[in-house]
Amino acid sequence: EKITIAIDGYSSTGKSTIAKQLAKALNYIYVDTGAMYRAVTLYAMRNGFISENSKDVPGLISSLDKINLHFVFNETLGFSEMYMNNENVEREIRAMDVSRLVSKVATIDAVRKKLVSIQQKMGEEKGIVMDGRDIGTVVFPEAELKIFMTASPEKRATRRYKELLDKGENVKYAEVLKNVENRDYIDSHREISPLKKADDAIVFDNSDMGLEDQFSRILHFANR
Ligand code: C5P
Repeated sequence: EKITIAIDGYSSTGKSTIAKQLAKALNYIYVDTGAMYRAVTLYAMRNGFISENSKDVPGLISSLDKINLHFVFNETLGFSEMYMNNENVEREIRAMDVSRLVSKVATIDAVRKKLVSIQQKMGEEKGIVMDGRDIGTVVFPEAELKIFMTASPEKRATRRYKELLDKGENVKYAEVLKNVENRDYIDSHREISPLKKADDAIVFDNSDMGLEDQFSRILHFANR
């Protein structure tokens, strides 16, 4: 019997790594909802609706219908890549400039409504692992398994820092730590769908846990 698995938590807790592995092992579909907020942010940046010191919310809202989002499974990579208006934006949406602005865009009600409705459609059929900030609370409150991932900010910043360096981004550790803390603050204090643990979610602190250990524990929950 296939189920719906919701994985929420703070930035860079390794949600997507675990969610991808889990989906592969169970033969489920994996959906990275952060990628969708990032793609909308990239669109907003390119079209002048948001920058470090300006924000045109009405402008962005009136353009939302022009943003077409879909995922395409990449056989070689073994996971789906984000496409915005038929362009593969997978690489661009992970860059630091998008990370700096995405949490601001994610506070906009109309943006959340659009993305939540796409996500709910994708999950109409069971057999899905979705990760984000509001999956267990808003997108799939009825999910059979909910995991809430957390780890110390320093552990998370270290992981994200290594990832960015591997991708050849020129960043400083302090900047990455600041971004992680800043996003968590905005995400958990916003008015609409703030990041919080669903009452029935299992808390999973992976500060001192290796990937294999995390994976086998979560797989165990899924198979219960
Ligand atoms: O998961 P990721 O770190 O890529 O998400 C980027 C940002 O998108 C988060 O910091 C948050 O502001 C927003 N987001 C959200 N709700 C989700 C997924 C992501 O608000 N379900």
